[in-house]
Amino acid sequence: MTGGAGGGEPAGRRFVVAVDGPGGVGKTTLSRGVADALGCAHLDTGAYYRAAALVAMVHRVDLSNEAEVMAAAAGAVLDYEDGVMLVEGIDVSRAIRTGEVTAEVSRVSALAGLRLLLVGRQREWLASHGGRGVVEGRDIGTVVFPGADLKVFLTARPEVRAARRAGQESAGIAAVREELTRRDHLDSTRPVSPLVKAEDAVVIDTSELTAAGAVEEVLRLCAGFG
Ligand code: C5P
Repeated sequence: MTGGAGGGEPAGRRFVVAVDGPGGVGKTTLSRGVADALGCAHLDTGAYYRAAALVAMVHRVDLSNEAEVMAAAAGAVLDYEDGVMLVEGIDVSRAIRTGEVTAEVSRVSALAGLRLLLVGRQREWLASHGGRGVVEGRDIGTVVFPGADLKVFLTARPEVRAARRAGQESAGIAAVREELTRRDHLDSTRPVSPLVKAEDAVVIDTSELTAAGAVEEVLRLCAGFG
């Protein structure tokens, strides 16, 4: 892979872009676009929390029992490659996006011990990708990679977020908006690693931006690292 195609950051050296924000703001599309342009890998950390919830549900674990959820997640080999989430080598990308998993994931992601375990896995992922990557989530700039070279925090108006998510799911806009509001509340009020903007993050409102426009804006910011 070559680096530096779209941004000014030097090819080959460690370079992390942290992309945080709530659901439906365009984190995945933006992160993939930026990673492609920079010639590095992309990590969707939400997929790890979803995979952990799925594994716990498959094992019929009580999701509020931290020890049981952790034991189930710790026993599973999780991997993320080219937009595909793997559990024990099996592609679970679709299974982790069902309504059942979406409804439970914020409960599971509030468990402190599970977060510690998954943050460790996410750091290992970056190390195994040469320390270069665009990493998206809720706590990347604050907890997972507080030393990231560039931190962006995406926002968008609630109706725009709901319309985008409804386009990706089979549910209607009203139901999707309700689910996003519920998860926003849980994710931003949990005691451990809540969804919060890092002090040094650049805020980008994607409401009026095309996907390509948002990528360009972040690449312009990356060019400052030339
Ligand atoms: O990004 P996505 O909507 O797939 O994330 C699913 C859930 O995973 C979030 O609602 C949140 O509860 C959790 N999450 C988290 N920390 C991250 C990424 C996701 O707590 N870094």
